[in-house]
Amino acid sequence: MSKKGKAPVEKNEYYDVVFKDLTHDGNGVAKIDGYPVFVPNALPGEEAKVKIVKPSKGYGFGRVAERYTDSPKRQEPPCPIYRECGGCQIQHYSYEGQLEAKTKHVRDVLQRIGKLPEVPVHDALGMEKPWYYRNKAQVPVGEKNGELVAGFYQKRSHEIIDMDTCIIQQKENDQAIQIVKDILKKYKVRAYDEEKHKGSIRHIMTRVGRKTGEVMVVLVTRTADLAHKEEIVQEIKERVNGLKSVVQNVNSKRTNVIFGNQTTVLWGEEFIYDYIGDVKFAISARSFYQVNPVQTKVLYDKALEYAELNGDETVIDAYCGIGTISLFLAQKAKKVLGVEIVPQAIEDAKRNAELNGFDNVDFAVGEAEKVIPSWYKEGISADVLVVDPPRKGCDEALLNTIIQMKPKKVVYVSCNPATLARDLRVLEDGGYQTLEVQPVDMFPQTMHVECVALLTLG
Ligand code: SAH
Repeated sequence: MSKKGKAPVEKNEYYDVVFKDLTHDGNGVAKIDGYPVFVPNALPGEEAKVKIVKPSKGYGFGRVAERYTDSPKRQEPPCPIYRECGGCQIQHYSYEGQLEAKTKHVRDVLQRIGKLPEVPVHDALGMEKPWYYRNKAQVPVGEKNGELVAGFYQKRSHEIIDMDTCIIQQKENDQAIQIVKDILKKYKVRAYDEEKHKGSIRHIMTRVGRKTGEVMVVLVTRTADLAHKEEIVQEIKERVNGLKSVVQNVNSKRTNVIFGNQTTVLWGEEFIYDYIGDVKFAISARSFYQVNPVQTKVLYDKALEYAELNGDETVIDAYCGIGTISLFLAQKAKKVLGVEIVPQAIEDAKRNAELNGFDNVDFAVGEAEKVIPSWYKEGISADVLVVDPPRKGCDEALLNTIIQMKPKKVVYVSCNPATLARDLRVLEDGGYQTLEVQPVDMFPQTMHVECVALLTLG
């Protein structure tokens, strides 16, 4: 960069650039005199004339005025509403290109943030068919010209755009959403108006068990009353294939948060079921459950392979959620201890352990960074420790306890390569060695990437 802090570019000026990278939100990155410029709809390798839209300190934003060359991996986005929706960021990139970009991103941050240039990062494991993978659809409902619409919020706005189909959703979800929308229109149900805080239906959510085909429909409404409730439920029951459950959730608050506190089963079961590998899961309207179960299995199989269990080990699963990884590990370990901060998730985890007949798993509610140090003080330790933290990564107190506890292996599952790299550095400085990292593509067409890393005591 030329002068420190000062952008070497001018607003509204044009520059010829070559794109090298993608940002985490799918923008192309080009450097002008070392100054990074982020540009939508630009792919690595492409050359373009770029107009600077917003120069800030340290980096700027631009847009393509003229593209001189197309990446051979550029493709026509198959979804007609891709540009307005914003749910996917890289449909204009071939799947091969997407996977390469994700692998490169993981390699780059491990070097830059983790100072781990030597650690082997394998190529990202992708899906055979990277479409129709999501098992959960959540669509906001509104009105346009007096008509009910349900779909997505237009990028950077609160206007709801109607949507007929979403090609990353499992087809069962898509169909269920359209049917429910149709029924709500027929009974002239009023959509929630967020400005006036009036009207009824706020969101439609549907979930489907990938292996079981069981479908749940959740209607999120402003008040418990819903005009024509019985007829609506009856019609949903008649028309939605695989339907096992219709649930109402009441959210009476002025908020962007989707769900309220009151949940009632209107028809059928409280749970639908699904399997990841051989492990069965009960999923309620409010349960957390991985949205891409096919790739979840790929990720957890890798975690299990890294843990290399022979049946004698005690394993700790930190940030265990509903116990998905814990139960995977329990198939092979002597004992698994899971920790999770959300009490309801732990209720689900216990139910799932029972459902599968595992009696070698225990779950505790609490912060991993408090519970695990207290276990350590009591003399409880682990041969293998698995962590799967949220995007902000592991708390430092937890990392310090791991370093003291000295489990032979740490298996780190991560949804954010940057915090993974930061935490690997801490564990390396504490005596661990990162042997390998495997990125897994859980969210095709988006820039998200999950990783699993294996560490042993050096
Ligand atoms: N391993 C689980 C979920 C991982 S998501 C699965 O595969 O399904 C991360 C989880 O960490 C969430 O369930 C979140 O509620 C939990 N969490 C967040 N902060 C935490 C903390 N400080 N201690 C324990 N759990 C926490």
